[in-house]
Amino acid sequence: MLEAYDVLVVGAGQAGVQVADSLRKGGFAGTVGIINAEDSLPYERPPLSKAFLRGEAEIDDFLFHNADWYAQHDIDLIAPATVESVDAEGHVAMLEDGQRISWGRLIWAAGGRARKLSLPGAELAGVLSLRTHQDAADLRQRVGTAHRAVIIGGGYIGLEAAAAFATLGLDVTVIEAQDRLLARVTCNAVSDFYLDLHRKHDTTVLLASGIERIVGENGNASGVELLDGTLLPADIVLVGVGLIPNVEPLAAAGATVTNGLEVDECFRTSLPDVFAIGDCVNIAHPFAADSRVRLESVPNANEHGKALAEVLLGVDQAPPSPPWFWSHQFDVKLQTVGLQTGHDDAVIRGDVESGKFSVVYLREGRVIALDCINSVADFAQGKQLVKNGVHASASELADTAVPLKAHLATVKTP
Ligand code: FAD
Repeated sequence: MLEAYDVLVVGAGQAGVQVADSLRKGGFAGTVGIINAEDSLPYERPPLSKAFLRGEAEIDDFLFHNADWYAQHDIDLIAPATVESVDAEGHVAMLEDGQRISWGRLIWAAGGRARKLSLPGAELAGVLSLRTHQDAADLRQRVGTAHRAVIIGGGYIGLEAAAAFATLGLDVTVIEAQDRLLARVTCNAVSDFYLDLHRKHDTTVLLASGIERIVGENGNASGVELLDGTLLPADIVLVGVGLIPNVEPLAAAGATVTNGLEVDECFRTSLPDVFAIGDCVNIAHPFAADSRVRLESVPNANEHGKALAEVLLGVDQAPPSPPWFWSHQFDVKLQTVGLQTGHDDAVIRGDVESGKFSVVYLREGRVIALDCINSVADFAQGKQLVKNGVHASASELADTAVPLKAHLATVKTP
């Protein structure tokens, strides 16, 4: 570890490793250090709730790079180490152990942490989250002897974990506070499809259900009590209720924070020479109805990392692409492109019962997003419709005899 770096990255997740990689690929010759709180070589998170949880992959299968790569690219990986505070004017980061590292430019890529419940019993041992490899390893160890899992939260992570547990033969219950699954991110038809999918795999899904407390025995979680008094015994209690962006050291240093660190189109925070990328960032996005968004996805973190490298290298920045995302549950592959918030029409393409269909979201007749379920062609072609802001009628989009790319013909070239 050096005393000073030209570029110091905080966080070796998807965004942090990507920006360092892109800087080197772009010919950046200055010193680069990445500080990471986790005690493992940097890795991808998506397999944690999928193949890793099912016991079908190990962390070595989804590392970004092996240890040699960092040395070969002259990137110092400083881990485990946590940045506790930042002196933005003085260009110094202070580590938990008292060490100080100076920087020319600081890139904050610290992602987020799993949101905790504030309920009686939430602090009991065995109330688990799923954000890090360590979390997933703890869960996997418990799965070996567990029979019953209760998952609090019917979002992507909760549902992917539910699918993994059900595949492994556990008796699974999902508790969701809203009256449908995935309510924040999709429409009723897709929510209903996932409800049906999980129920078909014998998972109990409780909608519009509130929790009174987590019940414990000898300091360990042993069940969940609902507001209506129902007691659900559990060997595993997994909480999947969202993410809190890791912004506190920069917020304390004076950075502007509103649901993530506010950055401009060049990823500059309000602090001098401090940039931010990935899950912890709130940025104006041309494909967002409300203009500013904080997204949580691998493609978004990668795009931020590449684009910030372009900014720092002084080369032209590629324009942002439509955000996209995927989820795997049982044999169902969901691919989403665009942001459906603010849609005024949603068209179903294909037969929901067949397990292969898409939902095309429109705003004022323009395609703004798609959810594609086992429909890879719709996803690939739909991306182009979103990117080009194509106008199409609901009846045309619903017609599966017409490939989505046919609607691109309506795009006017300047
Ligand atoms: P992170 O990956 O969170 O990395 C940030 C790093 O910074 C962490 O290692 C953290 O320990 C470190 N850090 C934080 N604070 C400090 C500090 N003060 N000092 C030093 N280090 C610090 N996305 C998809 O697109 N598709 C999927 O299928 C999908 N599945 C997922 C499944 C799971 C279980 C999880 C948890 C996420 C999934 N995601 C998925 C989301 C995706 O993984 C994230 O959007 C992505 O990892 C964000 O990358 P990031 O670099 O912004 O942050």
